[in-house]
Amino acid sequence: MSTTESRKPATIDAIAKKSLSALGIDLGGTKIRAAIVRQNQMIGEPHQIKTPEGREQILAALYDLIAMFQNEAILGGIGIATAGIVDCTTGEIVGSTGNLPGWSGTKLKEVIESKFLLPVHVENDANAAAYAESRVDALKEKKCVVTVTLGTGIGGGIVIEGKLYHGAAWGAGEIGHIKIAQDNKRMCTCGLFDCWEAFGSGRGLVITAQEMLQNVSADQSPLAEKTESLTTHDIFAAADQDDFIAKKIVQRWHEHIMHGLVCIAHILNPDCYVLTGGLSDFVDFELLKEMVIDRCLPRIADAIDIRKSELAGQAGIIGAAQFALDELLTASQS
Ligand SMILES: [Zn+2]
Repeated sequence: MSTTESRKPATIDAIAKKSLSALGIDLGGTKIRAAIVRQNQMIGEPHQIKTPEGREQILAALYDLIAMFQNEAILGGIGIATAGIVDCTTGEIVGSTGNLPGWSGTKLKEVIESKFLLPVHVENDANAAAYAESRVDALKEKKCVVTVTLGTGIGGGIVIEGKLYHGAAWGAGEIGHIKIAQDNKRMCTCGLFDCWEAFGSGRGLVITAQEMLQNVSADQSPLAEKTESLTTHDIFAAADQDDFIAKKIVQRWHEHIMHGLVCIAHILNPDCYVLTGGLSDFVDFELLKEMVIDRCLPRIADAIDIRKSELAGQAGIIGAAQFALDELLTASQS
C-alpha cells in the first residue's frame, strides 16, 4: 500500500464516527427489541416483538425486523446481543441457552451477513450491556467496570480499560456461576451446586424466602400463606409495608449479592460495579455498598463504587450496535 493510500484525513474519521448508524438488536428469551444506534445512543424508541419458538422462526423474525429498519435508515452494520456464549469472531452461538432452546450452534453472523450484505457483530447479551454501560460519560475513564445483571438469573460483563474481556473461550463474565456456598445447598440452572445465581437471582430470592418462611405463621407474615406461589414482587411489596420477615428476607438477599461482588472485587479490583436488570430496582445501594466495603481488603474497598445502570433496558441494544460501529471504524482506519 502506498503512503497516499494509507493516509486518511482525520476529519473523515470524525465525520464518519458521528454519522454512522447501526441497528442494535437485543434477542431475549421472551422478546426481541431493536433500534437504530448512533454514537452510543439509541435513536427513537425500540421496536419490540415477541420471541418466537424455534431457531428457524427466530431467524425469520430477525430477517423481517432488519428489513423493516433497512427501509427506514441507511445502516452501516448490525449488532446482535443474544443469550448464550458467543464466539465473536465467527458470530456463532457456542454455549447452551436455556431461554432459547435449540439456538446453540446457530451461525448467526454468517446467516445474517449473507442475507443482508452488511457487517454483523454478535455478542453475548450481558457482555453487550456491559460494553454500553462502561461507555457512559461518568465511567469512560474507569480502569475496570463490572456490570451485573440481576434478573431471573445473574449475568455479567467485564470491561477493562475500555475493552470488553472475553476470556480464553468467550466465557469471561459468567459471574452468575461463582460458587458462594458449600455442601450442595442449592442446584443452579447450569447443573452445578451453590452458584451465586442460585441465591442472588430472582429465582434464588424466592427459594431463600421459602426457606425462611418455613416456621413462620400467617400472623407473623402474610407471605407465609402463599409460600408455594411466592413471587419476588410479593416479597418486595411486603418488605415495603414493613413486614418484618420480608425485610429480613430482603436483607439476606443483599448478603447473597454481596458475596459475589466481594469475590469479584478481590480478583479484579474494579472501580465500579453497575447493577442492572429488573431486580436492580429493589437494591438498597447504600446498604449493599456498606456490606461490600466491610468485607473487602481496605485498598480494594476504597476504590469501589456501586451504582445503578443509567441505560435501563437499552444497554443490550446500544452495546451490540456499538460493537458493530467500532468494528466499522477500526476497519476504515486500517
Ligand atoms: Zn451455575
